Amino acid sequence: FNLESEDKESDLIERAPIITIMGHVDHGKTSLLDAIREANVADGEAGGITQKIGAYQIVKDGKKISFVDTPGHEAFTEMRARGAQVTDIAILVVAADDGVMPQTVEAIAHAKSADVPIIIAVNKIDKEGADPSRVKNELMEHGLVPVEWGGDVEFIEISAKFGQNLEGILDTILITAEMLELKGNPKKRAKGVVMESRLDPKVGPIADVLVQEGTLKIGDIIVAGESYGKVRALLNDKGEKTEAASLSQPAEVIGFNTVPEAGDVMYVVQNEQHARRIVEEVEKDRKLNDQNKKKH
Ligand code: GDP
Repeated sequence: FNLESEDKESDLIERAPIITIMGHVDHGKTSLLDAIREANVADGEAGGITQKIGAYQIVKDGKKISFVDTPGHEAFTEMRARGAQVTDIAILVVAADDGVMPQTVEAIAHAKSADVPIIIAVNKIDKEGADPSRVKNELMEHGLVPVEWGGDVEFIEISAKFGQNLEGILDTILITAEMLELKGNPKKRAKGVVMESRLDPKVGPIADVLVQEGTLKIGDIIVAGESYGKVRALLNDKGEKTEAASLSQPAEVIGFNTVPEAGDVMYVVQNEQHARRIVEEVEKDRKLNDQNKKKH
């Protein structure tokens, strides 16, 4: 049913890169996400951001960058399993005092199989036992060759804890994004991915969606997994009401009839009747799958 017409070249515009931060546990993924967010909150908002909607967007030198705030490797494994690729660039955090660890290797495999460029954040550079050349040597063994050694992988030394050299990370993201020439058509019906979801006792089902194509607007009829509805309200990553969310933008979507699952692909359809039909098909498929699983 997906008779998507080709995008007209003239409708395509530059879109923000979507970044996932990966790495071994305790190497500093959360610290880096938080540090970047805090350093880039507009004046007056500082400290006011408590909203956590699965993704956030910052502006660096007039360019937007979206960060996916998904723990572990879920952004790759779960979402890709459901046909949604949410990452343009992977930041691989490696603690300089610990080096390459099992989840580091796993992360490399995920990024490679998704064909996503990797930027290495050599973290905890402030620590006594920090040994960035060891990190380089160990990553070489996994095929990641630093630019300064003739390869194509950028290694940026940072301290997420002390906010040291976050600029270096952001600049490298922008340069990498430029080479990828990421574009999208904001005029299309929206398509995105559910990053997180919950049931609010007052508001009802809420889905945090990262819009990947088109523009999502109030009043749009939406489907995600076995949920559907009409967009009643949209909030941006600062918790403010907004009329629309476009390419690479995160938004809280209110209007689903039930709570969709994280990783579900969300898209806008013509009308509610169509939405219901799609959901019925999805339900049927799932039930068949469940039955087959029981048989085996
Ligand atoms: P995650 O499991 O990868 O998300 O790691 P966290 O961000 O939770 O960090 C794990 C621990 O390392 C925390 O205690 C952080 O305070 C600490 N940490 C993170 N980044 C740095 C850093 O740059 N320097 C130092 N000294 N500690 C850090």
